[in-house]
Amino acid sequence: MAIWNLGSINIDLVYRLDHLPRPGETLAARSRAQGLGGKGANQSVAAARAGSATRHLGAMGDADGWVADRLSEAGVDMAGVARLADQPTGHAIILVDAGAENAIVIHPGANRAIDDQGLDRALAAIGPEDTLLLQNETNGQLAAARAAQARGARVVYSAAPFDLEAVQAVLPHVSVLAMNAGEADQLFAEMPEVPVQGLLITRGAEGAEYRDLTTGAIHRQASFRVDAVDTTGAGDTFAGYFAAGLDQGLTIPQALRLASGAAALKVTRAGAGDAIPTRAEVDAFLDDQPI
Ligand code: ATP
Repeated sequence: MAIWNLGSINIDLVYRLDHLPRPGETLAARSRAQGLGGKGANQSVAAARAGSATRHLGAMGDADGWVADRLSEAGVDMAGVARLADQPTGHAIILVDAGAENAIVIHPGANRAIDDQGLDRALAAIGPEDTLLLQNETNGQLAAARAAQARGARVVYSAAPFDLEAVQAVLPHVSVLAMNAGEADQLFAEMPEVPVQGLLITRGAEGAEYRDLTTGAIHRQASFRVDAVDTTGAGDTFAGYFAAGLDQGLTIPQALRLASGAAALKVTRAGAGDAIPTRAEVDAFLDDQPI
């Protein structure tokens, strides 16, 4: 049993400003912070911290060793991550104003230069006990989903950032489709019937649900009440912990509760990948909850 994750690895560069710059304006930032981000890296950190054997597949630049170190320290196997000399590590420039409104520029860099043949070789070892995670921030999603499905693995696809064409292309090879409420609305407007085994829909502070489309059962999980500081990466924390729960043989309600606890703790902390809680922290948090 292992989790494989074809996913983006980003450096998040967060600049705090009094207001977001207008066209032509030059502004000095009040502060700068740098951290681990990218939907893929966040999900790998979540799955590894949840206690599942986690192998990341992807690419980054040949500098930025701290990024790879941080993933390794979280327990992620980085052997399937290529270091490219001709591409920078993906990065996100995140501008945040005094009212917490943001504007974000992403440079995908190495995340969109992943070698398809390398992926094929890596996924030759995936099996029916394993899970492949995918999000829409890399190239190679379709080939990887196909390869994993052909070997009997569970394929969990996060339809984010949402792109209808990308979801529709990969859908025939997906077991579980994960979306937030906005993404789900966009998909259902175009596709009322989604041909997958399960739908995982998260609704921020309002909770989450898993629709088992093979049995028709709907499992609902309320969100835990916390003082939210930063919701960045909440969805990835949820997806990584949920997949790890299933990987470890939890039932759907157990996996939902685990993921909801992990995501609730994440939103109490600033940052993305670096702020994802460990399994011990999540278990302790859940022990204190009345439900
Ligand atoms: P993001 O893009 O910020 O990573 P998302 O839009 O993909 O997040 P959400 O649906 O906003 O995902 O949140 C995912 C999960 O995180 C929720 O289902 C919930 O369990 C948890 N969560 C998010 N916001 C809160 C909050 N304010 N309080 C408690 N839990 C929260």
